[in-house]
Amino acid sequence: MGDKLAPHALASPLRLALGASRQAFTYAGLFSLCINLLLLVPTFYMLSVYDRVMGSGSEVTLWMVSSITLFLFGVLGALEWVRSRILVATSMRLDAMLGGRVFGAAFAQALSSGGRVVSAQPLSDLLALRQYLSGQGPMAFFDAPWLPIYLALLFLFHPWFGVVGILSGLVLIALAAWNEWSTKDLLAQASRESIEASQFTQRNLRNAEVVEAMGMLPRLRARWQAKQSNMLATQAQASATAGLIGAVSRTFRLTIQSMALGLGAYLALHKEISPATVIAGSILLGRALAPLDSMISSWRGFAQAREAYSRLDQLLQALPEGDAPMALPPPRGHISLEHLSVTPFGASAPVLRDIHLVIEPGVQVAVIGPSASGKSTLARSILGLYRPTLGHVRLDGADLNQWAREQLGPFIGYLPQDVELLEGTVAENIARFGAVDADMVVAAARAAGIHEMILRLPQGYETKLIGSHVLSAGQQQRIGIARALYGEPQLIVLDEPNSNLDQEGEGALSASLAALKVKGRTVVLVTHRPSALSHVDKVILMMGGQVGAYGPRDEVLALLNQHTQKISNAPAAPQAPGADLKVTA
Ligand code: ADP
Ligand code: MG
Repeated sequence: MGDKLAPHALASPLRLALGASRQAFTYAGLFSLCINLLLLVPTFYMLSVYDRVMGSGSEVTLWMVSSITLFLFGVLGALEWVRSRILVATSMRLDAMLGGRVFGAAFAQALSSGGRVVSAQPLSDLLALRQYLSGQGPMAFFDAPWLPIYLALLFLFHPWFGVVGILSGLVLIALAAWNEWSTKDLLAQASRESIEASQFTQRNLRNAEVVEAMGMLPRLRARWQAKQSNMLATQAQASATAGLIGAVSRTFRLTIQSMALGLGAYLALHKEISPATVIAGSILLGRALAPLDSMISSWRGFAQAREAYSRLDQLLQALPEGDAPMALPPPRGHISLEHLSVTPFGASAPVLRDIHLVIEPGVQVAVIGPSASGKSTLARSILGLYRPTLGHVRLDGADLNQWAREQLGPFIGYLPQDVELLEGTVAENIARFGAVDADMVVAAARAAGIHEMILRLPQGYETKLIGSHVLSAGQQQRIGIARALYGEPQLIVLDEPNSNLDQEGEGALSASLAALKVKGRTVVLVTHRPSALSHVDKVILMMGGQVGAYGPRDEVLALLNQHTQKISNAPAAPQAPGADLKVTA
């Protein structure tokens, strides 16, 4: 059903899943053949009753013909039922094959965009596709190919019937083509606009507080209404055209069916056909044209399913799922970035460019630099949350995508810049929702210096977060640090861990960094504050997505000082910032 076959289309998981259902569709097609042949039964019954029974006056013949007909109707019903069961089973199987994969892709989309594209649209798309496939929509497609059989029969009745059949079939096909041509772009646009409007709403709901505090609601509502009415206008335009074409095609079919009766009567008057054939011809013509007609009326469902299909197809191809990697030995925490460039999903240009450096195991590195210089992106890339556009990120020599995430997780500690705890108890959050090992949880909390703070919470470690208890940003951040330190992972990446901390919190963080140093853990610390630099061995200075300087802490800081002095002495320096900063480890 996809419109364009791209060269790489064969590898598309969606196509593969549909391909795996090919056998089921073939069966459905065969059933359709039988169903369509059986749909001729009423016509033949009528012909027999009129011509044989009425002609011969034989009651036995009537009984015979009637019971055969009743039996065939029974078969017809059964076949219809089985055909719809096949399609339902196929759609269930499609879900079983793709559901998990699409869920993963929705997740990967959120991940590779750094949380900027958060949408469950792929799952709704899969639902739409599945519902279409198990509904009435595809039936019209199954029935349409039997049109020639009906036409042949019409020719057998009388050549004129055949000619009328062919001509009216062509008219309906032309109407269907007109429908597709005039509504395709509109329907696609309407579906884009509807997704946009709903994402707009989601984003605003997430920022309800800001909106309320500054009285922005009326303006946002106006914007939403503008988007919504845009979408409705597009939809209405598409519906108007489709409705017109639908009305024309239905009226046309009814007219033709009746006029065929007139044609039959004319032929009968001239003794070309029997009176029964008059009615049979008209019914048959109606049946032949019905699938074309229902194809036109169900076109919208088809177009929507096609949209869903192509969105899903694009997503699944853009975010391929790797094979489950082999288990590797626990990492020592040796990181090497090899000519790394990263363009997050949704960004138009690379955010990191050609980053080439090594962080040895057990070394603590600070990442400093102005806002938007790519510090958080670097932190995410080191953890493999962004796929490199160019180059490699290696942990202990193995490209990050060679690691199985579930296996690697326990060796990694990560505190994102915007910490959000998940729904569950404090202890569950710190233990990363695994089995809660009380000793390890307390150890992590102590390492983060928040054991006492947690004890002061209403139910201590069992305090339920999100639902019943809301922590302050600073408290969340400190529990986030404990979560990162849980199980003493080998590689710890902390993105501005001190942004919400008070003096006590900073002291605790400092102490945990010192303890990690003794234990030989690799630490990457993104920070703004000079106070946090006291423990680190090395410093990476980020500048506009590139490494401005990387080396031992004191050297980089000295260079930075020199540089700022030079800039303040010569304010109109034409040089790009950091252009003369070159320290390599
Ligand atoms: P820092 O942490 O140093 O403040 P970031 O790494 O968060 O900076 O971002 C660096 C730049 O990259 C910013 O200009 C940001 O807008 C851009 N950026 C980061 N991630 C994305 C993304 N997913 N989509 C678009 N732009 C992004
Ligand atoms: Mg940042």
